[in-house]
Amino acid sequence: DYELAEADPEVRGIIDKEKERQFRSLELIASENFTSRAVMEAVGSCLTNKYSEGLPGKRYYGGNEYIDELEILCQERALAAFNLDGKQWGVNVQPLSGSPANFEVYTAILNPHDRIMGLDLPHGGHLSHGFMTPKRRVSGTSIYFESMPYRLDESSGLVDYEMLEKTAILFRPKLIIAGASAYPRDFDYPRMRKIADAVGAFLMMDMAHISGLVATSVVANPFEYCDIVTTTTHKSLRGPRGGMIFFKKDPILGVDLETAINNAVFPGLQGGPHNHTIGGLAVCLKYAKSPDFKAYQHKVVSNCRALASRLTELGYKLVSGGTDNHLVLVDLRPLGTDGARVEKILDMASITLNKNSVPGDKSALVPGGIRIGSPAMTTRGFSEKEFVTVADFINEGVQITLEAKKLVSGSKLQDFLKFVTSPEFPLIDKVLN
Ligand code: PLP
Repeated sequence: DYELAEADPEVRGIIDKEKERQFRSLELIASENFTSRAVMEAVGSCLTNKYSEGLPGKRYYGGNEYIDELEILCQERALAAFNLDGKQWGVNVQPLSGSPANFEVYTAILNPHDRIMGLDLPHGGHLSHGFMTPKRRVSGTSIYFESMPYRLDESSGLVDYEMLEKTAILFRPKLIIAGASAYPRDFDYPRMRKIADAVGAFLMMDMAHISGLVATSVVANPFEYCDIVTTTTHKSLRGPRGGMIFFKKDPILGVDLETAINNAVFPGLQGGPHNHTIGGLAVCLKYAKSPDFKAYQHKVVSNCRALASRLTELGYKLVSGGTDNHLVLVDLRPLGTDGARVEKILDMASITLNKNSVPGDKSALVPGGIRIGSPAMTTRGFSEKEFVTVADFINEGVQITLEAKKLVSGSKLQDFLKFVTSPEFPLIDKVLN
């Protein structure tokens, strides 16, 4: 029984390098966060050793008395974290992550080839909301179900609910999905509920990005309007990597969601739950009820607003003109550059964020924007002042990218490159052959 450094110095070394990278860089990826030592202690515990297929009290293996206690505690804390009445709402805390949780919901309430509508990925949606390109059904959620996306109004950067309504009336989906990976505003749940009711569809919210903000009422509450709510647990919620599915207990459209969803998770799509993750999640959900957590979520949003206003001051165009949550989406196209180049330059400077498509983009490989999130650096204690400085450094990175572009497209370099391929350097064929 060795310590990791002794048993496997190679893996220990990689972990140490990654830890140092996380420590020294400005972590601005909107879907990432730093979880607590307490959560990591639970995740790294003996809970990983136990098989417990089934639900508390109904397991396929013995020895689960403590695992039952843990899972029930986790379920209770999950409902409490979102102020849900256990008579009206239930939760499954076993999904291994966000994408499996979504697929489990679809498996529970849809038949193969039933129709779904989610926000298109190039407009901020997630792969697991039915993403496909004109050429390829990319996500399993578009292979097994028929997907018709809704999109943003490109002029306002806001969800085009009118288009959603018109398309839903024609397409007649069985499920409408709210939620996004790169949308800086709230969803209009009452409006989506009306549309879902008009066409007889279920309404699901994937609150993966904003679940911490929902738990602390910093953004609108999807539970008032949706039948099902899914989430990851490692983003703004600041827990271990995992997923949860919340469902209404009363039958919806004739479906007993509790039975259907629990069966879709196991045995439908998963085997034994990751009990170490459920342990870490229970710890995170206890913390989610604390005044500290509430203050943190408010800071996530005020920091993000400070970042957005500084970027606007510096002349940047933000999709939707600003933010109401933990992320901003910057449209770099008016400057003549793109997200891929800026991401690369900033990465070299230990500023970690991601290229992101913005409405109207032609290419997914060279998208026109960057997504910047505030949760991780807020966890590390940044306030508005530091986020203004962050905006200034991002601006510097963009200016350097524009300078680099001048060199690349500059006529002197282009002339020199032509000269290199001229007969004065005839040996090139031999070298290359
Ligand atoms: N749903 C949304 C809205 C997301 O943004 C993500 C991930 O970024 C997921 C689901 C998928 O989560 P996971 O990567 O845990 O499968």
